[in-house]
Amino acid sequence: MLPTAELTLDGALAIPVAGLDDGIKKMGPMLNVTRTWNAVCSVAGMRRAIALSLDYARKRVVFGAPLSEKALHVDTLAGLQAEQMGAFLLAFRVVELLGREEAGVADDHEVRLGRLLTPIAKLTTARQAVATASEALESFGGAGYVEDTGLPRLLRDAQVLSIWEGTTNVLSLDVLRVLGQGSGAFQAFESEIRHCLEKAESADAAREAKVALDAVAHAGRWLEAALAEGRDATEAGARRLALTLGRAMELARLVEHGAWLLEAKGDPRGIAAARRVARNGVDLIVDLHALDESRALVGDGALIRSGGDAHGMHIAHVERRR
Ligand SMILES: Cc1cc2nc3c(=O)[nH]c(=O)nc-3n(C[C@H](O)[C@H](O)[C@H](O)COP(=O)(O)OP(=O)(O)OC[C@H]3O[C@@H](n4cnc5c(N)ncnc54)[C@H](O)[C@@H]3O)c2cc1C
Repeated sequence: MLPTAELTLDGALAIPVAGLDDGIKKMGPMLNVTRTWNAVCSVAGMRRAIALSLDYARKRVVFGAPLSEKALHVDTLAGLQAEQMGAFLLAFRVVELLGREEAGVADDHEVRLGRLLTPIAKLTTARQAVATASEALESFGGAGYVEDTGLPRLLRDAQVLSIWEGTTNVLSLDVLRVLGQGSGAFQAFESEIRHCLEKAESADAAREAKVALDAVAHAGRWLEAALAEGRDATEAGARRLALTLGRAMELARLVEHGAWLLEAKGDPRGIAAARRVARNGVDLIVDLHALDESRALVGDGALIRSGGDAHGMHIAHVERRR
């Protein structure tokens, strides 16, 4: 993990390295590096958690057979593996784009794509890392909860990945900002997706390609309608928009990589992962913003009625302190 500390600089001499204005703007390149680094950490954390789960599954015997032979357990771990493969391909496309930009060899398409894909990759892979760590802990049963095993740390270390370097919401707003600048970032994104899907048909992944393309088209239509509706409507859906774009790019990259794996090595795992990610869900956008309903759910007096509900369950009474 990144070393971190709170420093108080009292009377220290400071030499401005880039003037005294436009601090946030000048920090931009540094944020691209740390957000890319974050995505790589997410992928690495997922990989580690899955490796431990797979190892345990081969050793733990339940009802007469190792967990690795139990269909439901295999299905559960396969879902994690597919998500990790998608996250890897998204994160390392951003690594490539960053490297090309730093080396001064990125073309226009790559610069525009990198600006949009960096926050998308950071927020998408971080959410995947948290979900994967949680499921990996569960795959150990009770041991996953016990501090001495070292396993709970996987979840704690994953959780920070969606918080620092910009939370999911803050980065979703950054994605909106990039898309709203009219800089051609969305067009660069669409053309990247189409490029990734060129060999989908020959790899028997036309259905998965359609899932990715439909999701991106839906995102474009939603954004246009939301921008016309106003700022609140757009912001309310920003996280679903950003995650949909992230998952669509992961799926497209899985199809591209899977087609290559199949052709070059006869290995079906890439396409299998694409099918799995497509089934797990890509398009998260909802057309109805229902902002009034959201406000009602979290507004004053919304939490929480006292007493039992129809099923006799007790709902805690929380007094709002005024
Ligand atoms: C272990 C650790 C190490 C860190 N190290 C460093 C470091 O070395 N250097 C450094 O500068 N910082 C560091 N940070 C700080 C970190 O970057 C911030 O905690 C993070 O960016 C979130 O900011 P915040 O804590 O102020 O939360 P807040 O901004 O108060 O956010 C609270 C919640 O509100 C949401 N939110 C905020 N704004 C909006 C909005 N406009 N619309 C919708 N939702 C919104 C957020 O998504 C979040 O869920 C570190 C944090 C941690 C946990």
